[in-house]
This record gives sequence, C-alpha cells and structure tokens, in this order.
Amino acid sequence: MTDKPCRASEKQYLYSPGPTDVPPYVLQALGSPITHHRSPVFSEYLAEVWDDLKYVYQTKQDVYMILSSATGAMEASVSNLLSPGDEAIVIRGGKFGERWGDICTAYGVKAICIDVEWGQVASPEQLAETLKANPKVKAVYSTLSETSTGVCFDIEGYAKVVRDTSAVLVCDATSGIGATPLLTDEWGVDVVVSAGHKALMIPPGLAFISVSDKAWKLAESSTCPKYYLNLKAYKKNYEKQTTPYTPAVNLVMGVRESLKAFRAEGYDRVMKRHQILGKAGRAAAAALGLEVFPKRPFDGLTALKVPEGIDGGAVTKKFRVDYGMTIAGGQDHLKGKIFRISHMGYSDKMDVPFAMSVTEMVLKELGYSLELGKGVAAAQQVILDEWKTLGA
Ligand SMILES: *Cc1c(COP(=O)(O)O)cnc(C)c1O
Repeated sequence: MTDKPCRASEKQYLYSPGPTDVPPYVLQALGSPITHHRSPVFSEYLAEVWDDLKYVYQTKQDVYMILSSATGAMEASVSNLLSPGDEAIVIRGGKFGERWGDICTAYGVKAICIDVEWGQVASPEQLAETLKANPKVKAVYSTLSETSTGVCFDIEGYAKVVRDTSAVLVCDATSGIGATPLLTDEWGVDVVVSAGHKALMIPPGLAFISVSDKAWKLAESSTCPKYYLNLKAYKKNYEKQTTPYTPAVNLVMGVRESLKAFRAEGYDRVMKRHQILGKAGRAAAAALGLEVFPKRPFDGLTALKVPEGIDGGAVTKKFRVDYGMTIAGGQDHLKGKIFRISHMGYSDKMDVPFAMSVTEMVLKELGYSLELGKGVAAAQQVILDEWKTLGA
C-alpha cells in the first residue's frame, strides 16, 4: 500500500518493530509447494525447526509452536498455568506488560501489578518485595523487551528472585528473542513466549512457548478453560513429532530457513550484531541532540523522543509518504511523543546509518535544527570501529 502513485522506481522499506522485513531466502521458502502436515517429510522439517528453536531459546526443554500471533502464546501461559481466583504478579511498563494484566483479568486471575512509568524498568528488588508481601502468588509475568517503549527488562535479575520461591517466571520475549540475550535454562526462566515476526525474520503467524518442569507441575492444577491452546495437546503431539492441529505449513518452511541462518551465523554473533546496531542508533541520536527514550535500551530498537515543538504524527507520516519507510510512532499516551526505528532480525551494518539519514531529512524538513550527516557519521563510526569485531 502506498500513499502516492506507484512509480517503477519506488522502493518500500520496513523498519517497524513487527512485522519486520523478511530475507529473500525465507520468502522463497514460503512459496514452496504445500507439504502435507502428517507426512514423514514434514515431521522431519518440524524436528529441524524444533531443534533450532531450542538453540535460539538456549534451552533443553521442548519449545512448542502455535499457529497464532504472540498474544496466543501469552494467553496460553495464563490459561494453562493458573486457575480463576489465583494471584499473579504482572510487571507493567508499556503496552505489552499491560496485555499480561488484561489476559489475567480475562481469566479471573487477580493481577498484582508492579507499575513503572513507560520507558523505565522495575528492579529485581521491587519484585522480591512484592513477592514477599504476596506469598500466594503462583506466577510472575514479565517482558524481555517492551517493544512499545524500547526498554529491556532485567529478566536475569527477576529469575534470580523467583527461582527460590514456589512461583514461576513467565517472560514475553516476543521482540527480544533472537535480538538480545535470554538464556532460558541458565537463568531459570520457566516459560518463554515469543513469535516469528520480530527478530526471527518470518511473516506473522507463528508463536512459540517453552515450559519448564516447575511450570508443568503448576499446570497440573490449572482449571482455566482451554481447548485450542491446551498445551498438553501440544506436548503429547510433540512427542510424536507432529502438531495437534494443522500447522501453518508454509510458515514452517520459512522459519526452517530463518532458524538455519540464525544457527549458521551463531548465537553470540547475532547478539553482538544487535548490540552494535543499537549502539550505532544511540550514537546517531546523541550526535543529533535527540534523546533516547528508554532507560535501559533494547538493542533491537532505537526509540527516540520527538524533539520539542515537532509534530510527532508528522514524523512517522513523512517517513512513510516521502521516503517509503515504515517506522513506528508511540502508542497510547506516547502517541506523538516518541518514534521507533527497528533493527532487529534481518538487519545489517548499513541499516542504521541509512535509517538515520532519513531521520535527519525528516526532522530537518519539519523544522528541527540539525546539521545533515552528523547523526549518520556517528552511526558510521560505530559500524567502522565495531563491525570487524564480529569476524567473518
Ligand atoms: C509484538 C509483540 C507482542 C505481540 O503481538 P501480536 O500482535 O500478538 O503478535 C507481544 N509482546 C511483545 C513484547 C511484542 O513486541
């Protein structure tokens, strides 16, 4: 969809934090002939995907695949673990943290909320205090990277707190997985939910969820109603190398390629690559006098405050209309106050300098005083200095 007449030369650039751009080798795989989902060859594809998902999750546990957006897996991690009347702690500091609270409420679970201002993080100490004051809590719902603000929460710190209690830690890693470290087993995160259309480089439609032994024990007593998202059915079929219902077969073909590529690049290199991109984005912002919005920034996203006196709605619109570039604005009360440029997943060394050159042109035209090229140069310098540390 474009806002201007289609010209032969027109290019579109997707720099939104989901859905994200998809590499050509994934697009090609998506166009594969349909394989029947109960065929032996499809079971082999599933086994490959599941094995690679364990690598991305850094876990030995099974990682189940659900045909849904990420919210389906979030819902499953409430409806499968808890019962109406149970208490859960929800860490909220943005749109997705709030979604945890909404799902709990929908299932009659009492959400005890740790609220932080959007853009800020909750400390492990805050969580420890809240857990201590509420000993009946069965689960803690958290977010790795809160995509609405660009913040990265301290999941490792929360896991240390939750590990020695009877509660389980559930983490929404939808945008974070594959872009910032999440060591599921080493940190002891009981349930990790995510999806394919952020850093895992496929179109929307697949969600993933891992479940620890501690969480399975809790699931035994859960009485929330569930059918399509009953994880026991996923587990039972997983053991037979299949899925309970028809999976999105061509998305499986796509994710098979993206996960293979992830593995070939290697976990550490992918993480480091995102760190460099995040650093380049923040260096550009500093050089342009722009303020980074999140207190503890997630490296897959550059979330910046709209400068004083500039119309935030006009910023994202200008990106799209004048440059064919889709980025994201702020949500809810941050609408018009921040803008977000994604560099998670299929993002290479020139993506940040390129997006920053558009940022400069957009802001300059909207009346912000800046010297063209200053932000770009700062990003280029980070890339020049650090990209070589990634190795071949
Ligand atoms: C994108 C996203 C989601 C889920 O959104 P869906 O529209 O259900 O895919 C959930 N949590 C976070 C942190 C996200 O970035």
